[in-house]
Amino acid sequence: MSAILLLPVGVHVPTGKVVAPDEVERGNACNCECVFCGAPLQARQGELIVEYFAHQAKAVDDENICPATVERCIFWMAKKVFDEGDTIALPDFQYTLENLVYRIKKSYDITEAKTLEYTLEYFPEINTANSEIRVKLKIRNHPLVVVISYVDRTPMLEESSIHVSLNVLVELLEGRSKGFKEAMSRILLQHTEAKKWIYHSRQRQEKCEQHFEGLVELEKLKAEEAAQARKAQQEQEWAEERQRAEERRKIRSVPVEIQRVQKEQALERVKERVSELVAVVEELYESGVLAGKRCETCLVTRNHNINKCEYCGDEQHEIFMLNKAALANLYSKYYCANYGSRSLKVLPVFSKFEFIE
Ligand SMILES: [Zn+2]
Ligand SMILES: [Zn+2]
Repeated sequence: MSAILLLPVGVHVPTGKVVAPDEVERGNACNCECVFCGAPLQARQGELIVEYFAHQAKAVDDENICPATVERCIFWMAKKVFDEGDTIALPDFQYTLENLVYRIKKSYDITEAKTLEYTLEYFPEINTANSEIRVKLKIRNHPLVVVISYVDRTPMLEESSIHVSLNVLVELLEGRSKGFKEAMSRILLQHTEAKKWIYHSRQRQEKCEQHFEGLVELEKLKAEEAAQARKAQQEQEWAEERQRAEERRKIRSVPVEIQRVQKEQALERVKERVSELVAVVEELYESGVLAGKRCETCLVTRNHNINKCEYCGDEQHEIFMLNKAALANLYSKYYCANYGSRSLKVLPVFSKFEFIE
């Protein structure tokens, strides 16, 4: 694999600098060696659209294995780009916080996109690196870590750091486009597309977190108030329902009560009428009258010498002999014969003094 891998960088022996193939002479005259294994290189460029280094024939074999990998080639080129550059474009950063319980999501603008001067503070050992490298820059006296790794391996950091997609760089290298160095430089320094903030600064992010906590707290209060309002409304509805049920029960029970009272009152009036009818008979007997006429309509007894009933005006009658035997248990006899209610039907009100004309 090592012999086949086409290298985007080499070390120019006379100057000791890491170079791209278009920076040196063609072929073995390039005077370069492999950054990984030190084997002499051959620059392949010009008529072909591809520009790369390859190990010179027999420089590497099964006994002299070159540790070059696609990632390490990229890291070497990155080192060259950071070494030679002086400004870096940083993307804007929106810090998004989300609370799933109250369904709140808010994005805070932490910083705008900008291009700033930098100095390269530290570039890690490449020939043992695997699929991630952390480069340290200094920008306006603040440290910034540039993490180059595959997107799905972005680390979580709590220091000022941006991520550069190794996926994009690998695609670039494997595309074997001409001018790999320039393309890398655009991605690492001039453009922001492949970059993403991992963490900006504790101060700014904590401020956003505090603000967001406030929003969550507010939402929590609102939710509690809403829950209380719902509970109060529910209780109100239950109270109203109980009230309505009570009213329905009263409405149902009123006629029963009225009927009961009416029945009692009717019975009282019947008893009262029987007493009145008996009293009239006893009065006649006590005044010495021996025979009376009992009106067949209103059942009031009158002196036998009076033709017409003084109460209902009817002349139909029954002769009623007034003696002790006839008067005995008269109340019971009248009551059982239903005289009370029959008389009431004809004469709702009974008064000895309210005779009809
Ligand atoms: Zn090599
Ligand atoms: Zn009568």
